[in-house]
Amino acid sequence: MRNPSFVEDGVSDFFPGGARIAVLTTQPLPGPLDYISPEGGVSTGAVVEVPLGPRRVIGVVWGKGEGGFDAAKLRPVSRVLEAEPLTDVMREFLIRAADYTLTPPPFMLRMALRAPGLADPPGARIVYRMGREEPGRMTPAREKVLGVMEDFEGLSFTLGELAEMAGVSSSVIKGLVKAGALREEEAPRDTPYPPLDASLPGLDLTEDQAAAAGRLRAQVAEGRYGTTLLRGVTGSGKTEVYLEAVAECLAKGRQALVLLPEIALTAAFLERVEERFGAKAAEWHSGITMTERRRLWRMVGTGGAQLVVGARSALFLPFRELGLIVVDEEHDGSYKQQDGVLYNARDMAVLRASLCNAGVILASATPSLETWVNAEQGKYERLDLTSRFGPAIMPKMRAIDMRAEEMTSGRWLSPTLAAAVETRLEKGEQSLLFLNRRGYAPVTLCRACGEQVACRHCDARMVEHRFLKRLMCHQCGETIPMPEACPSCGVEGKLAAIGPGVERLAEEVTARFPEARLAVLSSDLFGSARALKEAILDIAAGGADIIIGTQLVAKGHNFPLLTLVGVIDSDLGLQGSDLRAAEKTFQLIRQVAGRAGRAEVPGEALLQSYQPEHPVIRAILSGEEERFWAAEAEERRAAGAPPFGRMAGIVLSSPDLQATFDIGTTLARNAGPLLAIGAEVYGPAPAPIARVRGRHRVRLLVKAAKTAPLQQALADWVAPLKLPANFRLAIDIDPQSFW
Ligand code: ADP
Ligand code: ZN
Repeated sequence: MRNPSFVEDGVSDFFPGGARIAVLTTQPLPGPLDYISPEGGVSTGAVVEVPLGPRRVIGVVWGKGEGGFDAAKLRPVSRVLEAEPLTDVMREFLIRAADYTLTPPPFMLRMALRAPGLADPPGARIVYRMGREEPGRMTPAREKVLGVMEDFEGLSFTLGELAEMAGVSSSVIKGLVKAGALREEEAPRDTPYPPLDASLPGLDLTEDQAAAAGRLRAQVAEGRYGTTLLRGVTGSGKTEVYLEAVAECLAKGRQALVLLPEIALTAAFLERVEERFGAKAAEWHSGITMTERRRLWRMVGTGGAQLVVGARSALFLPFRELGLIVVDEEHDGSYKQQDGVLYNARDMAVLRASLCNAGVILASATPSLETWVNAEQGKYERLDLTSRFGPAIMPKMRAIDMRAEEMTSGRWLSPTLAAAVETRLEKGEQSLLFLNRRGYAPVTLCRACGEQVACRHCDARMVEHRFLKRLMCHQCGETIPMPEACPSCGVEGKLAAIGPGVERLAEEVTARFPEARLAVLSSDLFGSARALKEAILDIAAGGADIIIGTQLVAKGHNFPLLTLVGVIDSDLGLQGSDLRAAEKTFQLIRQVAGRAGRAEVPGEALLQSYQPEHPVIRAILSGEEERFWAAEAEERRAAGAPPFGRMAGIVLSSPDLQATFDIGTTLARNAGPLLAIGAEVYGPAPAPIARVRGRHRVRLLVKAAKTAPLQQALADWVAPLKLPANFRLAIDIDPQSFW
C-alpha cells in the first residue's frame, strides 16, 4: 500500500465549498477517498464526518482530491466537527509512524482520534458557583462546601467535583442551591485546565542538578529538536531536573508531555506538578473518565492543556504546539505496545519531537541499551546525576549464595535473608521482598499422572491464584475454579503447587513473622488503579512492615522507610533465550534495589542466587554499570543484533497449525525483496508461546543491517501474500521480546 504523501510546503490549504478534497477515514481502506468540500469550505486537517456506503464515518481532510474518480459521483462531506484541525506536523507524524511500523494509515489515524463523543455537538454542562444569599441554616456539611468555594474563589465546579472536594453528598449542594447560597449555571462542556505558573521557583538544586537543569533549559529555549539521556539513580532528582525543562517549555508558551510507564505513578507526579506550578497537569490514561478524555483531547488541540502526563498513547494526542516530551523510566518494557499497532512510545517520541522542533528527555537510572548506545555515539546528549539527593546513598548490595543456605522444600526465604528482615522489624524499618511472579504457584502438578495443568487455549501452564481460589492463564486470562481432581487423569487430591508466586511467599512470611504487617503488591490483587494508588500511599506512610511485590514495585514508587530489599530469585530472568534477558534482569534488579534507603537510613539489597558468579549478577553487585553496558553492547555488535542491526519479528497465527506453518514456509522461500537488501530470514519456527487463545503461532525473524531499507522490503515481501480468512500476520519492527 502506498501511503498518502505530504503537502511539500507544509502550509495548510483551504478548500472552498464544492472543491474536490481527499479525506482519510479511520476505516480499513487503502488510502484517502475523494469528497466534495462542504458549504463554507474546510481546511486541511479538519475533522469531518463523511458518508461511506450507508454509514457515516469520521475522517480528516488530507489535502486536494486526486481526480480520477467521476466528479459527478462524488458525495459531499456530511459535516465538519467541532474540533481543532489536526496540524500538518501531526498528520506528518501519523504518516511517518505508519511507515515505520508498517501500519495502515487509517489505523494510525484511529489512535489519534481516540476520544469519545467526537461527533457529539459541543453541548453544555451544569456548574456551581457562589450564590448571593446566606444559607438559612448552617450545617458542618454545608460549611465544607462553602469553604471549598471560598478557597477557589471565582471558580465553578460540576456537582461531582464539588461533592468530592468537599467530601459531602450531592444533596447538600442541591440544598444550598435551593437556599440561594449556590447558583447553577450552564458552562461549555470542555473547559481549559487551570493554568500552570512556570515562574514559580523550584527547589534549590544541588550543583550537578543545577548543571543538568541549566543545560536542559537552554536546549528547550532554543526550540530545536534534540534528545537527551538524563541518567541518575533513583532519588538523584531526575524528576526535579526535568521539571525545570518543563518550566522553560511552558514559559515559552509551548506544551509539554510527560510519559510515565505506570498509571499508579501519576498521582504522586501530579502532586509534584502542583507543588511546582501551582496547579495540576492534565491526565491521560485508561483510568480517566470518558468526559475527561474528551475534554483533554479537545484541550490539547486548542492549547487549553499546557502539560499532559500520561501513558504511551498520549503520544498520539493532537497537541497544538508541543515543545517537550519526557519519557520517564525510558527503559521500561511497557512503552512498547504489544498488540494492535506495535510501536515503541520511546522511539515514536523521538520521531514526533524531531518533526515539531521539540526536545526529548529520556530519564532512567538504568537506560535501555539502545539509548545508552545512542548517547555513546553522540546521537543523544547525555547528562548524569551522580549522587542521590541528600544523605541517602545507593544501598549496599550482596548476593546470598543459595547453595550454602539451609533450605527446606516449599520454603523460599533463606535464613540469611530472614535474619535481615528480623533486624528491620526490630528497628521499625520496612523490608521489601521482590519476586516477579504473580499468583500462588507457577505450576500445578498432578502427583498421580505427572501432568502439569495447562490452559486449554494456550501453550501455557495455568497459574494458581489461591486468593481467588482459581487457576489462571497469564496468556489469555482464562480462569477456572481450582479443581479437586486432576483434569488429565481424574484422580482426586493429588494436585500439588510447585514453585513460588507472591501469594505463596506471603504465606511463608506470615508464618515466619506472624506479628509483622504484610502488604502484597501485585497488579492482579487490586480492582482499580485507585485502590493500588491508595495501597502505595499507605505503605509509603508506614502502613506495612514487610512488602512483597512483583515488578510493579520497581517502577519509581517512593517508600522512605524502606531499608532492605531482598530479591527472592535473582536468576529468574537469566534463563530463556531472550535477546534482552541480561539487560532486563540488570535493569529490574538495579531498579528494585534502588528502592532501599531513600531517606536518612542507608539501605541494603540482598540477592538470593544459585549462580552468584554469573556475569550479570556480578555486574549488578559491583555497580559497574558502564562496564556492563559496554560488554553487552559488544556482544550485540558481534551478533549484528539491535541496536547495531535491525530486526523484525513476523508472527503468523491461525487455528490451523499445519496451514500456518505452510504459509510461513512459503514466505521464507520467497524472500527476494529481503535478500535484495542483504537481510536474513530465520524460520518459520513455532513461536516461544506457540499457542494463544486457540491460535497457533508461527514466527519468522528478519535481520538486516542498520542502514538497510527494512520497512520497504518487508512491505514488498508480504504484499503478494493472500491470507485466508482467520489467518493473521503481524509484523513487529524492533521487537522487544520474542513471544
Ligand atoms: P528521581 O526522579 O531521580 O527518582 P526525584 O526528583 O524524585 O528523583 O527526587 C527524589 C526526592 O528527593 C524527592 O522527594 C525530591 O523532592 C527530593 N529532592 C531532589 N532534589 C532535591 C533538592 N535539590 N532539594 C530538595 N529536595 C530534593
Ligand atoms: Zn490461555
